Amino acid sequence: MAGFFVREPRAVSNPKVVVMTPRRASRQIRLGDERTGIVAIGGGLPADHPFADGSSAPAPVSVQTMTAGYTHDIDRCVAEIHKLQAAGADVVRVAVPEKKDTAALAEILNQTTVPIVADVHFHFRRALEAVEAGVHKIRLNPGNIADRDQVTEVIRACQAAKSGAGIPIRVGVNEGSIIERKDKQKRQKELGAVFSEHKHGYLLSIMIAKLEEYLDIFYEQNFYNIAISAKSMDATVVIDAYTEIAKRFPHPLHVGVTHAGPKETGCIRSVAALGTLLANGVGDTIRISYASDPVYEVEDGLELLWSLAMRERKGAELIACPTCGRIQVDLFTLTQDVRKKLASEIEVPMKVAVMGCVVNGPGEAEGADVAVFAGDRKGIIYVQGERVAIVGEEEILESLLRECLAFQERVRSGEVKLGEKKVEIVPPDPKGELGSGWEKMAAERMKGSATLTVGES
Ligand code: SF4
Repeated sequence: MAGFFVREPRAVSNPKVVVMTPRRASRQIRLGDERTGIVAIGGGLPADHPFADGSSAPAPVSVQTMTAGYTHDIDRCVAEIHKLQAAGADVVRVAVPEKKDTAALAEILNQTTVPIVADVHFHFRRALEAVEAGVHKIRLNPGNIADRDQVTEVIRACQAAKSGAGIPIRVGVNEGSIIERKDKQKRQKELGAVFSEHKHGYLLSIMIAKLEEYLDIFYEQNFYNIAISAKSMDATVVIDAYTEIAKRFPHPLHVGVTHAGPKETGCIRSVAALGTLLANGVGDTIRISYASDPVYEVEDGLELLWSLAMRERKGAELIACPTCGRIQVDLFTLTQDVRKKLASEIEVPMKVAVMGCVVNGPGEAEGADVAVFAGDRKGIIYVQGERVAIVGEEEILESLLRECLAFQERVRSGEVKLGEKKVEIVPPDPKGELGSGWEKMAAERMKGSATLTVGES
């Protein structure tokens, strides 16, 4: 592996700020090559563990997604992969249902610089062809490629491949594709008894029995370059399945909620499951699945990891108030406009607050590097606690962005540090005499103090 660069993700530099269950240790897999860099997934088993691989700690959780277009349409597929990589995807998966799809892989790999996974169902030869093309990882579904000889052939092909970091295989069971085997497995019946008190016991027993049976084929070949997934559309099943699998198998876990629906509802379902698992130390790579543009999958996956302080944030973190009866500007539009501008123009992880008023705004924007407090068709802009401008509503976006860009340069030059100074908070007026009118509230307090003394009377 000498000479390969290790690509992002980077873990946060100070994880001590978050109280969460430590990451579960597993065997580590590595995917990629000299073109793409190496993405490590999982790791950290103690040296005396039979599956230990020498990795000292779990790698930062990576974000995966999948292209939505046809893989054999090379130009569009490459363009989509570039778009997903630009959005922050660490790994991109492509479907290869037909030979013309695997035939396109070599050229796709040639034109891209992110590790590519071939998603194989039903036809084991697609896996062999993808390995031949130099793909970085294979996903097999035990529910539709079950033949022992065929699986063994794929394993041997991955073992024999000399390219890059080797070719790991994800064993991905899905709720929908394993049910038909439910009456055939003795081990499954045993496990059914183990989980008899469990709400999802029947399904868990099927999933675990299938994984045990399938992994035996890999172990027989001394192949341990494995990741596991066990997806469902039900967030509670996903939480239960991965929690159980994490205890039973020493392999890294690819976690996700399958067919979660459109972004609007799939987001909640996915974050409920993935957030719970990650906060409990379970999960080494994530894929959020939406019936929407996969860019959203990447953006939301990253935001989830940033929110849990599991990855170093890239770009600005936007804080915005939900608005209430005190609002006197179009804050919803302003917030969306600010979000888009920050995404395209700000690279340092500054905190930016867009608040509807000066009543609760300062408290809710505490810790922001750059903040605007809107009022009566105006906005007051603060940079690290110092008031720098009062502008009309129509100028807020432009002025705020200008301050953010200037602040970014000051951070880059070392003149200031992120989060160094905060907006100072004085509790709101306990007598409730400030009312809700911006002029009444703010005029006095705009006279020069860098501190927003909202509670003054
Ligand atoms: S910042 Fe002001 S407008 Fe926004 S929710 Fe809080 S009190 Fe309401």
